[in-house]
Amino acid sequence: MGEVSQPRIVVVGGGTAGWMTAAALARFCVPKFSVTLVESDEIGIVGVGEATIPSIRDFNSALGINEAEFLAATGATYKLGIAFEGWGRPNESYVHAFGLVGSALGVVPFHQYWLRGRQLGISKPLGHYVLHTIAIAGNRFAHVERPAGSPLPPMPYAFHFDASLYARFLRGFAEQRGVVRQEGRIVSIERNGENGDVSAVLLANGTRVAGDLFIDCSGFRGLLIEQELEAGFEDWSQWLQCDRAVAVPCARVEPLMPLTRSIAREAGWQWRIPLQHRIGNGHVFSSRRISEDEATAQLLANLDGEPMADPRTIRFKTGRRRKTWVRNVVAIGLSSGFIEPLESTSIHLIQTGINRLLELLPAAEITDAAREDYNQRSAFEMERVRDFIILHYHANQREGEPFWDELRTMEVPEELKHKMDLFQAIGRVSPSFDELFDSRAWVQVMIGQNVIPESYNPVADLLPEPRLREFLEGLERSHVQEVSRMPDHGEFVAKFGPMN
Ligand code: FAD
Repeated sequence: MGEVSQPRIVVVGGGTAGWMTAAALARFCVPKFSVTLVESDEIGIVGVGEATIPSIRDFNSALGINEAEFLAATGATYKLGIAFEGWGRPNESYVHAFGLVGSALGVVPFHQYWLRGRQLGISKPLGHYVLHTIAIAGNRFAHVERPAGSPLPPMPYAFHFDASLYARFLRGFAEQRGVVRQEGRIVSIERNGENGDVSAVLLANGTRVAGDLFIDCSGFRGLLIEQELEAGFEDWSQWLQCDRAVAVPCARVEPLMPLTRSIAREAGWQWRIPLQHRIGNGHVFSSRRISEDEATAQLLANLDGEPMADPRTIRFKTGRRRKTWVRNVVAIGLSSGFIEPLESTSIHLIQTGINRLLELLPAAEITDAAREDYNQRSAFEMERVRDFIILHYHANQREGEPFWDELRTMEVPEELKHKMDLFQAIGRVSPSFDELFDSRAWVQVMIGQNVIPESYNPVADLLPEPRLREFLEGLERSHVQEVSRMPDHGEFVAKFGPMN
């Protein structure tokens, strides 16, 4: 890139990944770099992807996006967590909420005291000590600011939004800041005869778009990274067996809940995502176990409102591209790999891909060290997310159901086995600091699915029983009081960021 005065970055694809990348480049790299985005209206975008995790707010705020404007432009609602229904035993449910689980009580984590209380018969289900879970139960939401050093838990939150509207919103942002959009279908790719780099993409209408660095955001097909550069694919379907999703929006019903629902089904699970203008629904399933027709019928039989479109099936393969940066091509989004949306991680992975790219953006030549660093970190991140998703399937007690029986009894990746064994024995969770899901997430899912440690940390015994009882009761009471002062989620959204 050194010889070119204004290095040229070409983003291939205009779905969520393409426009998030282009918007970030517009904010941080234009005019030092020129940025062109190529997308094809004829091919379109995958168009699902409506639930996020709190890190999305970091992305929006890095771009300087106003939250109320964003809500209004994308039909967004707030999200405080995910309810998992029937993932442990068929009639049980729990919430994986964002934010703190319990509160600091002593030397060991809160859940160790909770486990002791459970043994004494004084602990209620874990969610009674989680502010978000209590807010979810009452459909409440507020922006809660805490002064520095406050003992009270912070209140992180995420959004549900319309993915197509978000892409449109970011397109406006990027184009205003100098990104050039080129409409057209790419029909061939030109390579540099000397070093094998991609030098240009050629469109059906004869246009040639040349670049120095290409970001492949072309979706599942991986136009550059796979079809041209053959990066290879690591298949994870032995653990994550779902390979299809059927999606259908339905009319919105009250109340507007600040959570995503994930409901276990015979051979997969159903999502329910509330937006301002509709509810997004989908059924993720294993085609080895049920047909598309059966999956569609199960979905349509379980909608809250009237369907607003015909159901649409999306086929996918779970796994990751062996290399996400090859030569002068970096894959971001579905082109880099896919893990089903059980914990709403794909948009987050787009974001971290963009962050890594910005950190390593070549001022001159792309070095092997930069590529290696990018590839290693992408692989680590996706593998750890994969293990967390496998946990949900593996720790089920849906006995007598073939799909679930197979997943409960399968061999899981070594690292996951270690985490589960350690928790089962002494209640310790040990994700490394750079994993996406920290111990609060692991604890909520494991306890929620009845992975209960055989013993707790004896340090928790140092707290006298009356003091523990008082603490647990006081914590729940203070959360309930705080939530009672929050407005209804639907009313909050209608006031703060009603849809345009
Ligand atoms: P796409 O949306 O497929 O975009 C590809 C782009 O490339 C399009 O613009 C297309 O026109 C262009 N293109 C392709 N080929 C060519 C060509 N030859 N010439 C020109 N242009 C071309 N993520 C979450 O975070 N939360 C969720 O709840 C969630 N739910 C999901 C549910 C399902 C069933 C699926 C499949 C995914 C879900 N995701 C979710 C993931 C999320 O949808 C994607 O991460 C996100 O939309 C990114 O897609 P993309 O931009 O990589 O690809």
